[in-house]
Amino acid sequence: MPEESTDQPSDAITGHMSPEEFRRQGHAAIDWIADYWASLDDLPVRAQVAPGDVRHLLPASAPEDGEPFDAVLADLDRVVVPGLTHWQHPRFFAYFPANSSPAAILGDLLSSGIGAQGMIWATSPAVTEVEQVVLDWLAEALGLPEAFRSDGPGGGVIQDTASTATFTALLSALHRASGGEARRHGVGGAGWRVYGSTQAHSSLVKAAIMAGLGEDAVRTVAVDPATQAMDVDTLHDAVVEDVGAGLRPLLVHVAAGSTSTGAMDDIAAVAEAVRPWGVWVHVDAAWAGVAAVCPEHREHLAGVEAADSFVTNPHKWLLTTFDCSTFWVRDRAALTGALSILPEYLRNAATESGEVVDYRDWHPQLGRRFRAVKLWAVLRTYGLNGLRAHIRSGVDLADHVAGLVAADERFELVTEPALSLVVFRLRAGDEATMAAMEAVNASGEAYLSHTTVEGRAAIRLAVGSWRTTRADVERTWRALQEAAAAQA
Ligand SMILES: *Cc1c(COP(=O)(O)O)cnc(C)c1O
Repeated sequence: MPEESTDQPSDAITGHMSPEEFRRQGHAAIDWIADYWASLDDLPVRAQVAPGDVRHLLPASAPEDGEPFDAVLADLDRVVVPGLTHWQHPRFFAYFPANSSPAAILGDLLSSGIGAQGMIWATSPAVTEVEQVVLDWLAEALGLPEAFRSDGPGGGVIQDTASTATFTALLSALHRASGGEARRHGVGGAGWRVYGSTQAHSSLVKAAIMAGLGEDAVRTVAVDPATQAMDVDTLHDAVVEDVGAGLRPLLVHVAAGSTSTGAMDDIAAVAEAVRPWGVWVHVDAAWAGVAAVCPEHREHLAGVEAADSFVTNPHKWLLTTFDCSTFWVRDRAALTGALSILPEYLRNAATESGEVVDYRDWHPQLGRRFRAVKLWAVLRTYGLNGLRAHIRSGVDLADHVAGLVAADERFELVTEPALSLVVFRLRAGDEATMAAMEAVNASGEAYLSHTTVEGRAAIRLAVGSWRTTRADVERTWRALQEAAAAQA
């Protein structure tokens, strides 16, 4: 034993906070967040910086000697805040919301404080078992089939994103359809086919690329021009044609709320159309799925009993700080069959007993955070009634916006509002539509994003921030009206 061992083995390391300092700085960090939220209403929603502006405020190299943590907090205000687009701003209506919430943030902080790696059950049993229970709770709350629960053949897992969940679904489908061949020999030249509508999220193509199928393996299926939902007869014809050509239908992506317009593919009809070929049915409800906590907002999930896998993102509209994407499978054997790996250094009695779930076999990566804590914190502190109230408020505000659009003859709805998403345009055309949106975004009053529907530009207004009120949507609408008037 070396003689000079001391009670403070880290004496030589500067920068470690003492427990007292950690408490002090922790309070300051939470104070900073609370002050930031309080300031949001007066800040421009979209970042006002040009490329490089933020970089230029930072030194070229890391400091040689440690600085106090207060210096980092001070630079958040000086360097970071001006370069932020404020996703938690009450007038953020672009893309889809990325809800954070006080409970989720504290849960996330606790997860960091615990700092456990939950790669297998044995590396921290609570990380796995809390996650299983919380996902069972959420599956029940959303009205998902019994088969998806952890006490049945399936189960749920938290993924980082819906993109990863869709990739994982594709790997599971490959394993099942190839009888294990895919994991042994790869997929080269096997003629696999993946289907999704023209409105399927881009993560489907990315998954096909990552799985080694290539983007040409994805066959896009036309949609009904009015609803933007997949044309199921066209899907059926495409599968029949592919089978006739010697190709192998593998997976169909069902958009239960498309990203562009919130279009809802008919899950039951899609599953029925591909049933003869045993195609894996993956329901992508990344944004809209969580609305099913409200029994009256479950219609778009009708037929989900026929799905092989299902993903929805509490990190979009369910108040759970990014990242938290919840993914369920009907049969976990396909998933673990595709991804299980057991290196010698992870061998343990619990795994060998077969009595535990090792989540490393449920997604591409090995290591994993204790993300269940933040979802647990959200589910417990809001309760299902609190979450329902949040979803209902988003839907009500979107209905209000849709009414305002319909009442102004300069504007028109492009599609029927879907839950909390309203898609509309100026009758004057694409240029006027884009110019009005850009005027509002540039003013900092609110932030909206665009899409194209049947080749024409449209504005998307997605309600869902936890801080948005009726006054916020009305103020945004007035800004849009003024922008439209300025063009006339
Ligand atoms: C947002 C979205 C995704 C991607 O979500 P990530 O979690 O960012 O990967 C996938 N599908 C749909 C329908 C989405 O709206």
